[in-house]
Amino acid sequence: MDCLFCEIIKGNIPSKKVYEDDKVFVFLDINPNTNGHMLIVPKKHIVTVDDIDNDLAIHILEVEKKLKRLLEEKLNIEGLTIVQNNGLGQDVKHYHVHLIPRYKDDNWKTIYNKDILKDIEETIKEITN
Ligand code: AMP
Ligand code: ZN
Repeated sequence: MDCLFCEIIKGNIPSKKVYEDDKVFVFLDINPNTNGHMLIVPKKHIVTVDDIDNDLAIHILEVEKKLKRLLEEKLNIEGLTIVQNNGLGQDVKHYHVHLIPRYKDDNWKTIYNKDILKDIEETIKEITN
């Protein structure tokens, strides 16, 4: 099956490229949460965090730091939220890290259904037993 991000990396689908090296391709998210929202995508087709090897993970971390500095310099960002979805919440099944610049008045809210929360004591027992 064709993968959207593999096609973007190959240049078959246009994107707003920010950065590229031998391991990753970085481009602006087409539906940004804030100005400068971008995606770091490994050139190798992998799907979730389970698939990533340590060398690539460290490389992505280095690219995150480089792009954070770029965003601070060029867009005067005041913070940077880094997210990577796996399974539920992951629309594109090619591993990608969201870099979401934060601005004082961006009014970003994530809304969770707190009605389905268990007691925190129960959760720690489940995790550690
Ligand atoms: P996720 O829900 O974590 O899989 O995020 C997928 C992201 O890919 C979303 O934020 C989309 O806006 C973004 N996206 C989908 N198609 C494109 C595209 N053609 N170019 C750039 N970003 C895209
Ligand atoms: Zn892919």
